[in-house]
Amino acid sequence: MAIVTETQQQEKFFILFVGLCLYNQEASDASAAAQKRWNLSDFDIGKPLGRGKFGHVYLAREKRSNHIVALKVLFKTQLQQSQVEHQLRREVEIQSHLRNPNILRLYGYFYDQKRVYLILEYAARGELYKELQKCKYFSERRAATYVASLARALIYCHGKHVIHRDIKPENLLIGAQGELKIADFGWSVHTFNRRRTMCGTLDYLPPEMVESVEHDASVDIWSLGILCYEFLYGVPPFEAMEHSDTYRRIVQVDLKFPPKPIVSASAKDLISQMLVKESALRLPLHRLLEHPWIVQNADPSGVYRG
Ligand code: ATP
Ligand code: MG
Repeated sequence: MAIVTETQQQEKFFILFVGLCLYNQEASDASAAAQKRWNLSDFDIGKPLGRGKFGHVYLAREKRSNHIVALKVLFKTQLQQSQVEHQLRREVEIQSHLRNPNILRLYGYFYDQKRVYLILEYAARGELYKELQKCKYFSERRAATYVASLARALIYCHGKHVIHRDIKPENLLIGAQGELKIADFGWSVHTFNRRRTMCGTLDYLPPEMVESVEHDASVDIWSLGILCYEFLYGVPPFEAMEHSDTYRRIVQVDLKFPPKPIVSASAKDLISQMLVKESALRLPLHRLLEHPWIVQNADPSGVYRG
């Protein structure tokens, strides 16, 4: 996680807006009045699926419905020590309201004295990051199919004034059909204003966030451009040994296409139209879907079938 610098006013606005308090019984009573109250005895716990910074994720089955889910268990002490309670509330509030085939569902949450539990959609094929490591880089058909599906999911988010701000392979999971699922809304914001927050991982940050100037939903277009490059070349475009060099390369948009692997001119054209310093000039996502490289390569079903 990187540094967060937010004005108190923004934070106040956010708290007012969210109005959700994981640790306050009264507040959660009000906000969750219409929702079912879950507890651990509603689930059979299965094998561990992975480990995150703040806890563990387990396969689980909701007893009454037999529905399979992923249960993310977070320790309150660790959340408090790292001062990420706000971020978690934001993540829960935002992700639980999104409904899109390429966005991981968050069905609900509950807590006990020591832990917070998130009930998540189970992504049966695991992490995209591992797939990319295994293959080194993806074919143009696979990359285009993924990029198009993410563009549709981001169009949906932006339509709800949600900016993800942390699109990268580590935050993408693969569903049972092979469809991508955007997970991890820890850095996302619900906003009507332009914002000045430093967050995310350096390699995927656009110039305006590196330089901490105002930014808006077009930060996600930049990150999707970086992702498209990494899918095709196996490494992000501004990678460097030193942070300061990555920083400089981002700010200068020092974009180079290596000779290997061979990538079509059309793909490079699309990437070049997304990685544009002036955020207002980046290719809008609905136009991305009409780009010849996407039209010719992306599977219309939105699912890559190996
Ligand atoms: P963090 O989110 O704290 O930065 P992280 O992404 O590594 O770190 P988690 O989101 O807690 O950690 O997930 C840990 C691991 O569990 C993931 O890397 C993934 O392998 C697995 N996992 C998480 N959620 C799911 C899910 N919904 N379906 C399948 N596997 C999951
Ligand atoms: Mg995660």
